[in-house]
Amino acid sequence: MLSARFCWRRASRSLQSTVRHNGTTPILLGALNAAISRYDTSSEALKTIAIKDNIVTKDLPTTAASGILAGYTSPFDATVVKLLRHNGYSIISKTNLDEFGMGSHTKHSAAGPTLNPYSRGGVRLSPGGSSGGSAVEVAAGQSWAALGTDTGGSVRLPAAYTGTVGFKPSYGLLSRWGVIQYANSLDTVGILAKTVRDVRNIFSDLNKYDEQDPTSLPPSIRNRISTNPHHRSSTLRVGIPTEYNITELHPLVRSAYTRTLQHLQSAGHKIAPISLPTTKEALSTYYVLAPAEASSNLAKYDGVRYGQRTRDPDSLPKENLPLYAKTRGEGFGEEVRRRILLGAYTLSSESMDNYFIQAQKVRRLVQRDFDSVFALRNPLLDDHVDRYARDGQGVDVIVTPTAPTLPVTVEEVKQQSSIESYMNDVFTVPASLAGLPAISVPIRLVDEEAADLEETDVRSVGVQILGQFGDDENVLNVARLIE
Ligand code: GLN
Repeated sequence: MLSARFCWRRASRSLQSTVRHNGTTPILLGALNAAISRYDTSSEALKTIAIKDNIVTKDLPTTAASGILAGYTSPFDATVVKLLRHNGYSIISKTNLDEFGMGSHTKHSAAGPTLNPYSRGGVRLSPGGSSGGSAVEVAAGQSWAALGTDTGGSVRLPAAYTGTVGFKPSYGLLSRWGVIQYANSLDTVGILAKTVRDVRNIFSDLNKYDEQDPTSLPPSIRNRISTNPHHRSSTLRVGIPTEYNITELHPLVRSAYTRTLQHLQSAGHKIAPISLPTTKEALSTYYVLAPAEASSNLAKYDGVRYGQRTRDPDSLPKENLPLYAKTRGEGFGEEVRRRILLGAYTLSSESMDNYFIQAQKVRRLVQRDFDSVFALRNPLLDDHVDRYARDGQGVDVIVTPTAPTLPVTVEEVKQQSSIESYMNDVFTVPASLAGLPAISVPIRLVDEEAADLEETDVRSVGVQILGQFGDDENVLNVARLIE
């Protein structure tokens, strides 16, 4: 047992993708992992799945990488976990994340940071976040696939940085029952795997209505989605938003993106420039709305009804701090405390109108931008904003880079300000605000490009495909075309 524990610790330390838990379950898990690693874990037959540690499992602790949930084990499985087990997948580990999903590098974790298997100049790279643990497990072949959560890009960004496929389905298709909330109106369970085919198989097993989740799309809307009329020919119209062509785009991201578009064009598909004017406001909108929802969601961790109580409640009278303040100060990490303060501020009566309400309005404009360019109607709306659709100029999918740059090293991450780190999400948050399906597919660098990068072993760049709400199957089909 001791050596199994040691092995597990060593394995997890080298990868640092698995959350360290005390107690016996991880030891057993370690033994299981060791046994499994003798086989090819990427083989479909095993169907091993790692689960981000903000999705509850009844046989493994769930901490959301937060001190406030240290030692917590859920009495039930999340619906997505239940469905995985029901379909014969084996759940082999819980994976590291930025605390409660807040971050872009998987560094804000009570279990310590996760490192990308890839490096530059001998320094390991950021795996992206917040589902970095799940992405690294897949990239390193420790599990066949993994679940993550994507609130503003947390599945797609780590997928792009680790050379894996990361899919965020339309909001409401996969159940959130048992997913620890960060920002309810944006939180989506996502899937990471090595191929689009594997992602699609898992997606079809999880894409079920769940009456325990009030935001799960009911059968009536699922039916409307499947009968949404569209006259799609075998030739796709691929939208290229001019607003994503920013100067900060890394040259290798630009060339992988251009190559993907050329590939689609040479296969007979049409490339159509489009405009999504509100894109520029999407990032700041997201960083008003997500912390506002987070500050409200996290209010329940008071150390009385919910969450780990302060280690030293006796010191309270002297310090004159309420129990919950001490508990929350100790239990939450720095980034989570920053988001709570930001959210509490934008929701306060004096700033509500200027920030929260404005951000909700901009969110609506982001959604309208998308509705105006897609040929397919939004099945959630009765009216369609048909700026392009009316004259047959609507697009079937939108293709963009997943992130503006290649992953930075963990040393560079330490120098980044919070705002610089939020910039990683600039291409992923628009789909989140609109609840659209989006997938990041790794595009291999060509030899000359890879030669330019001899200091690093990174070999791919993430390209993102977005579709109209409910058009998940089409997004997956186009992803197959470019992988
Ligand atoms: N990086 C974003 C944030 O910190 C997205 C996180 C996510 O999708 N969970 O909010």
